[in-house]
Amino acid sequence: MQPVLLWLRRDLRLADNPALTRALDTGQPVIPVYLHAPEEEAPWFPGAASRWWLHHSLNALSCALTAAGSRLILRQGGSLECLLQLLDETGAGQVIWNRTYEPALIQRDRRIKAALKDRGVRVESCNSALLFEPWTVSNKSGEPYRVFTPFWKACCAKGLPDDVATLPESITAPAHWPVSDDLKQWALLPRISWDQGLAQRWQPGEAGAHHALERFLAHGVLTYKTGRDLPGQPGTSRLSPHLHFGEIGPRQLIRACQRLQQQGIGTEGSTSVAAFIREIGWREFAFHLLFHFPQTPEHPLDQRFEHFPWRKPEDYADDLAAWQHGLTGIPLVDAGMRELWHTGWMHNRVRMITASLLVKNLGIPWQEGARWFWDTLVDADLASNTLGWQWTAGCGADAAPYFRVFNPVLQGERFDGQGAYIRHWVPELEHLPDRYLHAPWTAPASLIPPAYPRPRVDLGASRKTALAAWEQLKEHS
Ligand code: FAD
Repeated sequence: MQPVLLWLRRDLRLADNPALTRALDTGQPVIPVYLHAPEEEAPWFPGAASRWWLHHSLNALSCALTAAGSRLILRQGGSLECLLQLLDETGAGQVIWNRTYEPALIQRDRRIKAALKDRGVRVESCNSALLFEPWTVSNKSGEPYRVFTPFWKACCAKGLPDDVATLPESITAPAHWPVSDDLKQWALLPRISWDQGLAQRWQPGEAGAHHALERFLAHGVLTYKTGRDLPGQPGTSRLSPHLHFGEIGPRQLIRACQRLQQQGIGTEGSTSVAAFIREIGWREFAFHLLFHFPQTPEHPLDQRFEHFPWRKPEDYADDLAAWQHGLTGIPLVDAGMRELWHTGWMHNRVRMITASLLVKNLGIPWQEGARWFWDTLVDADLASNTLGWQWTAGCGADAAPYFRVFNPVLQGERFDGQGAYIRHWVPELEHLPDRYLHAPWTAPASLIPPAYPRPRVDLGASRKTALAAWEQLKEHS
């Protein structure tokens, strides 16, 4: 029988994988393939933390496929060339995949689809990553949404999909397997081993995603509404890298939440579950915006900000390096940047605070921060990262108004009152009394730990400078 090629991309899972379901429905043998072609993602080549995750996720997927009587075939090179080669080697007549939504990958997939169809190959694509395709949600004038609340209302009005395809027991193998690359030869793992922190924190792969979900359902989701704001506590799901690589999908999360809601979980539980579902909505919104405004990873959606008077690279290089390495002298910011460096992840509230300091207090363009996050986050995601940075910088859709400048001292006092988060990531401050912890420069000189830097920026003065620049921009646009 003629086999079917199942081209796996950001859908590294077997359960609720519509392309896999379609491939199985053909009744033909299935050849799962993963193609490594980072240059096709230019200019957003996967960062170092993403490559680390990908290596382990592919390993996990390969094991899961082997357990189901199948294999994962790995090939490196241009995707079209690899697919044509595989079609030739295996005699397959059909390719099935789940869609991706980054601008460069959309273009690539269109090209590949057309080229394969020209050669008489059947091609089918499905949706594994989103609740709704970005082109199916629009406002009354048929335009894409630019504000989250009406966007999410429109999504909810359609009914959130929770239909989930079950895990296949087995996958029919072809009579002959094509050869596969050795994953190790792709050199996705770092040459210098800086990844111990990542390895301790994460379990990449579908099983890891389900463990994270189970943990969150048992210990986090019912108090999510308040717990999600406290960086020192494990109050959020930590599913973001699993979602990015498609080890779990949003429909599965909706289904899990709806099951909980049917169990009588009380008012706090119920509002917390709803708040979590709304965050899945923010992820959808990020994809919606990236699809409709594909220029936004590099350019502000609000075009006035193209002329914002950012500092020049030669003037901000030292401040940028201090921010990247958690040495700004502002404790909550340094804690976040160090958490990112060690674990490949940072709490959402702290992402907003560190981003706000970079853009508004240090006057550094948001694109610099987005690039750093891109390289260091295990959940680096073009849609969500772009939304997060533009939101914080005040130049995106439904953005925080530019004049909202996060004050890291007040934020620390409010959300890390006992200082557990800061003391964990900034051990130089471990013994500083609580009342000075969020602003060590206010402590008597004898108490300030000499190993900790003085603040690189005056929070009050830099805030005023940022607001003055914004006023000028408004006047001239
Ligand atoms: P939970 O609170 O458990 O939320 C569940 C899921 O909802 C998340 O896994 C995520 O998929 C989605 N979600 C939650 N908040 C947001 C949000 N604000 N925007 C979009 N989706 C959201 N998220 C990424 O996945 N990748 C990124 O590269 C990324 N970069 C960001 C950069 C900045 C400057 C900011 C402010 C936010 C960024 N976020 C990014 C959004 C958010 O910080 C993370 O999704 C969240 O911290 C992940 O942790 P969690 O899985 O425990 O989230």
